[in-house]
Amino acid sequence: MKIVLLGPPGAGKGTQAKSISNRYSIPHISTGDIFRKNIAENTPLGIEAKKHIDKGHLVPDDLTIDIVKDRLKKEDCDKGYLLDGFPRTAMQAEALECFLNSRGEKLNTALLIDVPRGFILERMTGRRVCPACGASYHIKFNPPTIDGRCDICGTDIIQRKDDVESTVSERLDVYDKQTEPLINYYKSEGLLTIVDGTKAINVVFEEICNILGSNKNDNY
Ligand code: ADP
Ligand code: AMP
Repeated sequence: MKIVLLGPPGAGKGTQAKSISNRYSIPHISTGDIFRKNIAENTPLGIEAKKHIDKGHLVPDDLTIDIVKDRLKKEDCDKGYLLDGFPRTAMQAEALECFLNSRGEKLNTALLIDVPRGFILERMTGRRVCPACGASYHIKFNPPTIDGRCDICGTDIIQRKDDVESTVSERLDVYDKQTEPLINYYKSEGLLTIVDGTKAINVVFEEICNILGSNKNDNY
């Protein structure tokens, strides 16, 4: 099963991706996580990516596309994958389509987690993440069992630098201009499915499973 997750920053893509990845045994590929890991390790890619991420801008397409293509060639992607945060531009969507075509493959679905603007600021400024395993929490909607500690690995959770209010508004503008048009692109390809992302986390997950469970293209 090959899935693209669409939706604005803060929609719940990372949260749902972890559960989908477990349920369907497919790797969760988050370009944001890849960049953050490289930033933490101070690699040349991390140093370049940080310049853009800290301003709320996108990392350049050529860099991002190469990273994703390399990742998708790995053996664990043979039975499918879940892309979270990619594609984010028309050029990235075209590159993904070319990559799939060159291998005789197709996406099963582009799943939009639909959340109106009004919900986003509170979700993003209240988000806390685990720097070790990438788990995502929310101070109000999804707090960890022990205050300030990751449920999965016990590491102290932190606020992402780009989740402060000023950067959030820039990221939402970037989303509106560059990423939202992909919804129509996938709609015109007949691949778009939509889930209401304003419901509780477990309800959203149930609805996603209903959609994916009834997906007819499981053989791709
Ligand atoms: P994205 O990956 O789309 O940027 P996240 O999955 O990190 O978004 O979610 C953003 C924030 O909103 C996190 O703090 C997360 O715990 C919280 N969240 C995710 N889904 C929901 C939901 N359905 N209801 C309330 N809060 C949610
Ligand atoms: P995310 O974790 O998906 O919210 O991504 C965090 C940041 O990483 C984004 O605000 C971008 O700066 C950068 N990023 C992640 N994915 C992409 C992508 N597909 N293209 C360009 N930049 C990206």
